[in-house]
Amino acid sequence: MSGYRTLTEQEAVEYARNIPNLFPEDARLVSREIGDGNLNYVFHIKDERPSGKSVIFKQALPYVRVIGDSWPLTLERARIESEALILEDQLCPSSVPKVYHHDTELALIVMEDLSVYQIMRKGLVEKKRYPNFPKQIGTFLARTLFLTSDLAMSPLEKKQKAASFTNPELCNITENFVFTYPFHDHPSNAYNPLIANVVQRIWNNNELKLEIAKLKEGFMTRGQALLHGDLHTGSIMVTEEDTKVIDPEFAYYGPMGFDIGAVIANLLLNYAAHEGHTPDLQERESYQTYLLETIMEIWNVFENEFRALWNEKAQEPYAKVPGYQDSYLQNILQDTAGYAGCKMMRRVIGLAHVSDLESITDPKLRAKGETLALTIGQELVLQRKTMTSIKDIVNVVVAAT
Ligand code: ADP
Ligand code: MG
Ligand code: MG
Ligand code: MG
Repeated sequence: MSGYRTLTEQEAVEYARNIPNLFPEDARLVSREIGDGNLNYVFHIKDERPSGKSVIFKQALPYVRVIGDSWPLTLERARIESEALILEDQLCPSSVPKVYHHDTELALIVMEDLSVYQIMRKGLVEKKRYPNFPKQIGTFLARTLFLTSDLAMSPLEKKQKAASFTNPELCNITENFVFTYPFHDHPSNAYNPLIANVVQRIWNNNELKLEIAKLKEGFMTRGQALLHGDLHTGSIMVTEEDTKVIDPEFAYYGPMGFDIGAVIANLLLNYAAHEGHTPDLQERESYQTYLLETIMEIWNVFENEFRALWNEKAQEPYAKVPGYQDSYLQNILQDTAGYAGCKMMRRVIGLAHVSDLESITDPKLRAKGETLALTIGQELVLQRKTMTSIKDIVNVVVAAT
């Protein structure tokens, strides 16, 4: 990585000018850093002339952006992200920003500008509704997960694919910050003091910790399909009509339920946050019902598309054995519930919180939402093995509310 340097806004403009066919020669380019994530720099580069084009530059730093150089992190993540975006676009066309250019030395991705889209998390706090989202994200999940699994690929090809997406440093972040640190007294935790006794009960719950240990083992050992790996609502950009998935730098071969669980966990964190954001009971229940219907529809789209792909394309010799498809989907459902539960709890107890809850300014009101999120999270983990349909997930939420 000898040629690596972090680009200034001006250097990014110069770099953009030199990419063949990206901008016309007389373009008036301006650059603005717009990154709001924890890890990387994101530049918006625009030709200022009327109807001029724009692109996004995303550059990885050799360390974690929000922490600084005391926490080094591999630049390899930019290669993983760029290859994952290209593959996801092949497997599920138009579901991600187009990659125009990738520079391995600079750990730089030049991609389609989605500035007319909004980060979904923000839209959900504003109680926006997205009628096409379940169909679009359910299809993304079914296609990217099925088509990269042993069901659809030869075992040789699949293992080669898995080898090019080993992502040990980023997986280690998830292993620590999703599965380990939040579940004991660790200095990285950062929870609302008003929920200290709820957190203490989680730390003392050995039945729960046993189930989290099993889920963590699944994350570390179960290379079922190529995952996005960080599919929260801050990695989804939406308009009223359309959905795009961004930021797959955590991509690796893992259990399918981890990605589906990430989407569901973040919809449920938003659900819990409306305990604070939406005091009017009728308005709150209406939006929470919308979120639960969205979750059911996502799963139903996922399941229907996954079964259709299986029936049409499965290569696995056992694919037609009676009961195998049903059992496979039941396992995904149970993993989905378990991983959703872990992710909900870690966003309340651990280092990285979600703005859905953080933007509730009254700590007492926030504690109400956080406590609901922790209750739902625990029950999803504990009850997952008895679940046979998406309604079982919804019932856990309704019973906890
Ligand atoms: P990080 O890995 O640091 O979290 P992200 O890929 O999530 O970086 O990008 C950070 C932010 O930059 C996003 O929340 C979004 O606001 C903006 N962004 C990223 N990619 C695009 C894009 N293709 N088009 C428009 N905005 C983008
Ligand atoms: Mg991000
Ligand atoms: Mg972000
Ligand atoms: Mg990221």
